[in-house]
This record gives sequence, C-alpha cells and structure tokens, in this order.
Amino acid sequence: MTDIAATPRPSEAVRALDRSLAEDLERLRTEGLLRPLRVLETPQGHDVGIGGRRLINLSSNNYLGLNTHPRLIQASVEGARQWGAGTGAVRTIAGTQTVHELLEERLAAFKHTEAALSFQSGYTVNVGVLAALLEEGDVVVSDRLNHASIIDGIRLTKADRILYEHRDLDDAERALSEARGKGYRRVLLVTDGVFSMDGDVAPLPGLVERAEHYGAAVMVDDAHATGVLGDHGRGTTDHFGLHGRVALNIGTLSKAVGVVGGYVAASRTVRDHLIHRARPFLFSSSHPPGVVLACVAAIDILEGDAGQELIDRLWTNTRHFKAGLEGLGFDTGASETPITPVMCGEAETAMRLSDMLVERGVFAQGIGYPTVPRGRARVRTIVTATHTREELDRALEAFADAGRRLGLLR
Ligand SMILES: *Cc1c(COP(=O)(O)O)cnc(C)c1O
Repeated sequence: MTDIAATPRPSEAVRALDRSLAEDLERLRTEGLLRPLRVLETPQGHDVGIGGRRLINLSSNNYLGLNTHPRLIQASVEGARQWGAGTGAVRTIAGTQTVHELLEERLAAFKHTEAALSFQSGYTVNVGVLAALLEEGDVVVSDRLNHASIIDGIRLTKADRILYEHRDLDDAERALSEARGKGYRRVLLVTDGVFSMDGDVAPLPGLVERAEHYGAAVMVDDAHATGVLGDHGRGTTDHFGLHGRVALNIGTLSKAVGVVGGYVAASRTVRDHLIHRARPFLFSSSHPPGVVLACVAAIDILEGDAGQELIDRLWTNTRHFKAGLEGLGFDTGASETPITPVMCGEAETAMRLSDMLVERGVFAQGIGYPTVPRGRARVRTIVTATHTREELDRALEAFADAGRRLGLLR
C-alpha cells in the first residue's frame, strides 16, 4: 500500500480531474451502483475467503475448477522454468515460441477447425477480429444483447451495422435481407453462443441457415459455451452439429479453461489474415509461456474422460440448483445453462440481495446497468462442477430466506 503521507500534493489540474470524476461517482452512488471491489483472500474455488469469512462462491466463470487443477499448476510452473516468465515481445516480432503454436494446433484440433490463433484475452480477440475483418463497404449483423467486447469491436470498424432483436430469427432474417439488398462486400453475422448475463443459448442452426441463404458468414463467441456445451465441451457449434458452417469460432481461455486468453478457431486463411491485421496481435505482447502451457494442460483434460466427467457433474449441479431456485418461486429468466440470473428489477434490490446473501455465507454478485439494461438488475449465479450438493442446498436456503424478506418469491 502507498503511504498517503508520502504522496506529493497533487497539482490543481490533477485535483480538478478528481473533482470532476467524483461527481460521476456520486451519481453512481445515488443509483446504488457504486460497488467496492470484493477481494478474495484465497484461490478462486467453489468457496472463497472474503473479509475473513468463507463463502460459497456462485460468482465465478470457473465452470470446471480447472484453475486449481494440479496438472495446470504444474504446467504453469514448468512453463515459467523452461521458457521464462514473459516473452518480451509481440507475437509478430519475437514473441512467438514453440509453445504458442502448440496451443494453437491443440485449439484447432479441439474445435475441429483448420487453424486457430490465440490472443491475450477473449475481449481482445473480439475487438481484434472484428476490426481486422470488416472494412468500409462491409456490414455486421449483430444480436442486440451480444457481449460488450463484440460491441466494442464493431465500434472500431468502419463497417455498417444492423442489429437484430435478441435471439429473434425472423428479425435476423430481416437484417440479413436488408444487408444483401445493399451490395456489401463482406456480411458477417455475429452472436454469442451462450449469452453471459441471461444464460440463454443462441438459435445457431436457424441463424446459420439464414446466413447461408443470404450469403453471410457466421461468427459465434463461445466464451460461456466452451467446456460447458457440446462433446467434451467443444461449444455450441459442436452442440448443434454445425462444424464447417461457422466461419469464426471465438473462445476464451479465461472461463472453463481456467487460465487467461482468447482465441479464434477458423480457416488457415483467416488465421493468416489476422496475423497481418489484428491490432492486439500486432501491438500487444504475447502470453507468458506458463499461461500457454497451462492452457494446453486444460485441453488435455477436456479431451479426456476426466473432462467429460467434470462437464457431466457441472450439468448435474446446474439442474439441481436451477430447479431449487425455480421451486422457491424466483424469476430466473430464460436461462438454459449454468448461468442462472435471479431477477430483481431495480439495481438497489439486486445489490441488497447480494449483500444479504453474503451475510448468509453466499457470494453471488449483483449486476446492474450498464452491464444489463435498467430495470433488469439481477443477482447472477454460476454453478460449477466442484460445488458439493450440500453447498448448493445451503446456498438455496440463503436465497430462500433473503428472497422472502425482499419479496422476490412468486
Ligand atoms: C467473458 C466474455 C468475453 C471476454 O473474455 P475474457 O477472456 O475474460 O476477456 C468475451 N465474450 C463473451 C461472450 C464473454 O462472456
């Protein structure tokens, strides 16, 4: 911690900026949206230490508990020992080591595509890919509730954009037909595979069919589907049997894979193009080797029997917890996956519910605007493969008690 007394007195210009930002923060406070960071005093697991207490953790994307798997930790340590703690360069200059290409070959094989290219995170892969693929004279057709990283990627292109209503096939068709009528060069339809705030699944077969009819390519972001849906967790493309018909399969290495990073699994041509055009790839340094080898270890596990067993346990836990919440009378929205929102309406109610859950030994974050629309605030829960049945039942009791007090039960 910095010693405040030793900090030099800030200039008037520095203080003026602080005053102006403090006004914005005050507005957040009045809307109930000002949140302190919750600091974990333990590894990220099915339970976590916060404020000296042990809480059941329903707030992580660590679906399979791989972040603390001995094989990933071993690979991470060995990677650093053999290859160094960092790479000291961007991929295109001197930051590509044997291990980076090994990971990409493994990702391509896992996703059943010709090639793959890794990035620093899921966020950078979306921003990098969309900005690199789309130019003036192109158009992107996008689900209204796509992840922020897709929205930001679209903002960075000079391409036109046409939004369609969330998971609405008729409206997607309207958007595609509008796009074709205008004679664009490239038409790309983009959707999350599993939507991160609602836990619902994209109607991918219908989207792919319509995109093919109108001559559009499809990009699916499987950040919340990899390690969750499909054979051995290969994602929505696999879940729906659409191999070869989805041009760009985006994934993250930061969720079920348990480490950090992002990738696109696609054709060799897409990979070559991105190596020359994707700005996060060109201008930001590559992954430390320990990160890369931990990801390879995760793919080893996913592809084996142990991986499928973890995924099966994830779904058993999901069904149990979801049925419990619904049985109590909570509104859990349209969720079909381990992401289960507990709808609260106003942000203040969601934050209150989250605080009451913490008091009762459960860590589940309240989420409000701008992450979700105003009036659609929620406590978002994510069950993992590593939760015990006893923990899930204790969490349900906490929800029942807090939900009753807040009048959230139907
Ligand atoms: C989490 C998420 C990302 C970002 O992934 P990171 O690796 O955390 O940067 C991208 N897209 C979707 C749909 C996500 O849910």
